[in-house]
Amino acid sequence: MTKPEKRYLLTPGPLTVPAEIKAEMLTDHSPNAATHQGMTRAIRAYMLELCNGAATHECVPLQGSATYGVEAGLHTLVDREKSRILVIENGFYGKRLTEIATGARFDVTTLQLPMLPLPTEADIEAALAADPAITHIMICHAETGTGVLNPVAMVAEVAKRHGKLLMVDAVASFGGFPLDAAAMDVAAIFISPNKCLESVPGVALVVARRDLLEASAGRSPSVVLDLHAQWAFLEANGFWRWTPPTHVVAALAKGCERHRAEGMEARAARYRANWRRLVDGLRQRGFQTLLPDDVAAPIIATIVDPEDPAYSFPRFYEAMEKRGFIIFPGRLTAAGTFRIGCMGDLGESDMTLVLAAIDESLAEIGVATEPA
Ligand SMILES: *Cc1c(COP(=O)(O)O)cnc(C)c1O
Repeated sequence: MTKPEKRYLLTPGPLTVPAEIKAEMLTDHSPNAATHQGMTRAIRAYMLELCNGAATHECVPLQGSATYGVEAGLHTLVDREKSRILVIENGFYGKRLTEIATGARFDVTTLQLPMLPLPTEADIEAALAADPAITHIMICHAETGTGVLNPVAMVAEVAKRHGKLLMVDAVASFGGFPLDAAAMDVAAIFISPNKCLESVPGVALVVARRDLLEASAGRSPSVVLDLHAQWAFLEANGFWRWTPPTHVVAALAKGCERHRAEGMEARAARYRANWRRLVDGLRQRGFQTLLPDDVAAPIIATIVDPEDPAYSFPRFYEAMEKRGFIIFPGRLTAAGTFRIGCMGDLGESDMTLVLAAIDESLAEIGVATEPA
């Protein structure tokens, strides 16, 4: 195959960004200008619209990657003197939530579960019963470390029943999988612009329950990781505290327009078709996926390394990279795997190119596969 003009970033994010979104970054915007402030308002409103949170929640943008939003959300929304956070860990990003909350000096307890089966009501009930001091629950929606899509609506039910506040890492899932902030009564949802929203990295978005946000003035021990201060400042002045990532905001405003035009269901269907094409093609070639299809979030495929002694991820990566396709290693929580993302500016015809590049790359490094 000839190397495609497009460079394919087949990772769990950032990803292959549509040219139309990148083009938005060629214009410089002043943070004080109505255009930039209008974009900020439109982005915040669209996040709430996507999760049915307009009546009950607020969206606060913050400079940084999505993790900055998680830490800022904890500092701002959780009273560390009176709280204990239960983190449901069934993969790398669950563990990372523990790392963030522990690092930020919160009282944390973990429910460590294997990758599968999925967490059940009974698992969470038992963890809550064992430790009545728990006030908050955190979980990843799409656990991109393995590709598992966690049952967050069920977790929200359990949390509500026990009077606990739920915080969801929807970094990888937001915009591709429905989440109903009002119905779930969720305390916080953490969002990235550079996963299912298909824009560029550089801003964190947090959807927070309005009453909790209103009650959080002055709580954060950090000057910059303070969602209340950012929110109050934005509401009062229309512009961000500190310099906003103006180009990133412009890109995301376009990303929201494109998302609206495509629709969440159609976007999810496109990712599913990409993933289906990829997974079927890899299975035909003798590969195995880490997960059965019914629990997999179709935004990333986690593939078990071939047993062929000629296989090494670095060599495979290099062969793919040379052809314009960037793939991703597995996580420690899923050792012996590699990952290929299905999100971004990709359609089924692109996945056909990915499979052709895989064939060539494996042949180049001397790994035998079953003929497709
Ligand atoms: C990508 C990802 C993150 C990390 O987001 P950053 O933007 O790198 O801070 C967190 N959680 C999940 C589930 C992810 O997929």
